[in-house]
Amino acid sequence: MITFDLDDTLWDNRPTITNAEIETRKWIESKVGNINWGDLNDFLLLREALIEKDQSIAWDISKLRIEIFKEKMKGLGSSHDIQKLAEDAFDFFLKKRHEIKLFHGVEDAIKNLSKNYILGVLTNGNADIYKLNIGKYFKFSISSLEAQDSKPNKSHFELAKNYLLNLTYNEMLHIGDHQINDILGAHSLGINVLWFNDSEASWNQNFEKPEEFSNWQNLENIIKEKYESR
Ligand SMILES: [Mg+2]
Repeated sequence: MITFDLDDTLWDNRPTITNAEIETRKWIESKVGNINWGDLNDFLLLREALIEKDQSIAWDISKLRIEIFKEKMKGLGSSHDIQKLAEDAFDFFLKKRHEIKLFHGVEDAIKNLSKNYILGVLTNGNADIYKLNIGKYFKFSISSLEAQDSKPNKSHFELAKNYLLNLTYNEMLHIGDHQINDILGAHSLGINVLWFNDSEASWNQNFEKPEEFSNWQNLENIIKEKYESR
């Protein structure tokens, strides 16, 4: 079994989210007029306050986004209208959030690997692989909503393992870009790991750096050499 992170592993997430964010703000302002969106620090403080009221916001990032939209539109309409607008704004955001451009070589690698392995998705985000064409190659997808937790905690990995009866962690391979959420999380359970590092980042963890790759066109060969020649 091979599991994959999505954001910044299968595609570059920053331009995707930035665009979705900008377009959604424009959409909201076209309905209710100008809004003071605040900066990152305001966002973090608001997030913290919302989590205090509702713990599930920590892993339910869709709910988080809707609540933030509601907060920003406060006083600009009836609470019923604002609830509806926030939900519509989130639907709009989600559509934009799926306008992604896969890294070169992803589609071929996934397609070929799916012939020999069970492929799954483990994401902390709210992109849905089944809304994309390559979704057909994945047998399962686990987001933080299903896991009710976020990587690096074990919930995602455990659910993946339970997908197959009697599968053990050392029969799994997890591939992701994030040193902690993906690599440390999987490694600490005994899952094999491959680090997607396309930014020449240095390794900052206190265990041995795993094999890394920066070009999806090399992935199949790396997996073949590492796991199929044993
Ligand atoms: Mg990632």
